[in-house]
Amino acid sequence: MIVEQYFIENKWRKETDQNEDGTEYYYYALDIADGFSFISNSDDETFDGEWTVGFFDCSPSMKFDDEEQLDALILIARDGIELGAEEKQEFVDFCLDDITELIKGFATAHKETVEPIRKYNSGMGALLCNGCSTIMATGEEAWSGNRLYCDTCEIETKQ
Ligand SMILES: [Zn+2]
Repeated sequence: MIVEQYFIENKWRKETDQNEDGTEYYYYALDIADGFSFISNSDDETFDGEWTVGFFDCSPSMKFDDEEQLDALILIARDGIELGAEEKQEFVDFCLDDITELIKGFATAHKETVEPIRKYNSGMGALLCNGCSTIMATGEEAWSGNRLYCDTCEIETKQ
């Protein structure tokens, strides 16, 4: 789902225009390069505060309605831009905060899905590290313990 706040936080350009009957509407745009822009639907086409994003003059039309998908798509599009070294550095500096936040978001989302790995191990039980698969415990702790990472991997995942 894409909410209007997404465009504001990510500094999309707000464009206002008028319908034939004089009523105003607005939408958001993000330019990646000349001739390549992401365009939202207009505020009078949204339902329940859910927005979609597509491209101009694209057939068949494409619509995206998920913020994470859109973030990934924008990153990929920006990554394909051929810039001179200096321009590229400026661009990277400009986007760095966004990218850092995005990566943190993915890391957090991933961490929540990590579960302790338990193996039967011929009845002895074994609790394996999620990072390197080392056996961290056998016996009772293997069945009841909730450790996800060995000491080495623990340090790496916290960085
Ligand atoms: Zn490990």
